[in-house]
Amino acid sequence: MKYALVNGNKIEAVKGVKGICPSCGSELIAKCGEVNINHWAHKGTRNCDIWWENETEWHRQWKNHFPKEWQEIVHFDRRGEKHIADIKTDKDWVLEFQHSFINPEERNSRNKFYSKLVWVINGLRRKTDKVQFQKVLEESSRAPVGNVNIRQVNFPEESRLLKEWLNCGVPVFFDFYELNKSTLWFLLPLNIKEEAYLIRFSREEFVTVHNNNGFDELVYKLIPNIQNIILEYKRSISNRSVNNLLNCQTRKTIRRRRF
Ligand SMILES: [Zn+2]
Repeated sequence: MKYALVNGNKIEAVKGVKGICPSCGSELIAKCGEVNINHWAHKGTRNCDIWWENETEWHRQWKNHFPKEWQEIVHFDRRGEKHIADIKTDKDWVLEFQHSFINPEERNSRNKFYSKLVWVINGLRRKTDKVQFQKVLEESSRAPVGNVNIRQVNFPEESRLLKEWLNCGVPVFFDFYELNKSTLWFLLPLNIKEEAYLIRFSREEFVTVHNNNGFDELVYKLIPNIQNIILEYKRSISNRSVNNLLNCQTRKTIRRRRF
């Protein structure tokens, strides 16, 4: 963990200092070495939160973009279950920075536990992910949503990342930070099966939209609008094809009558 409580204050790890775990209240040891980033750890192999994953530099950089008061917040549900959220914003959005693989069952329990959850996925953990993702993006088309450049991926199953996260039901961002330090791809939580819709986001935009409390508007207003526009377009296309079919049949009938 980045923070422990020392005399009631949230403090980063300092060699030789002992802290208290904000979640379970047990003693934490400051780990300050050259290999791993400075962090706090429970004694031995103890870990009070089964959802906690070891922090990488990537996790730490993300957390550092947000105010200290939002970092590593112990979140309780109604039944008293508790977990440490990487970030919890003023608007109660929990941001989870996920490096390792997470199975669908655990992902669903987190989606339920945190009612407002955003996943930020490390897109560089597996070597093949970046290549596959780039390929489906290259083959994507522009979704019919006015001036907003939304990429429509028709065969999301060709990217393992997209296949795993499609229909997750909550906002998901893929972070390919080495490709271009600032590029994130936002997988829109649309209720449209078998297609993925992606918007390019910069890391700065992501941080700003949370710091300015604009994420509610994005998720509860703009995304439903986008979904309606896409569904409306799909309906008009299918109506058009039905009409075309009817026209075609009418023409055939007319022709048959003539001859
Ligand atoms: Zn603990």
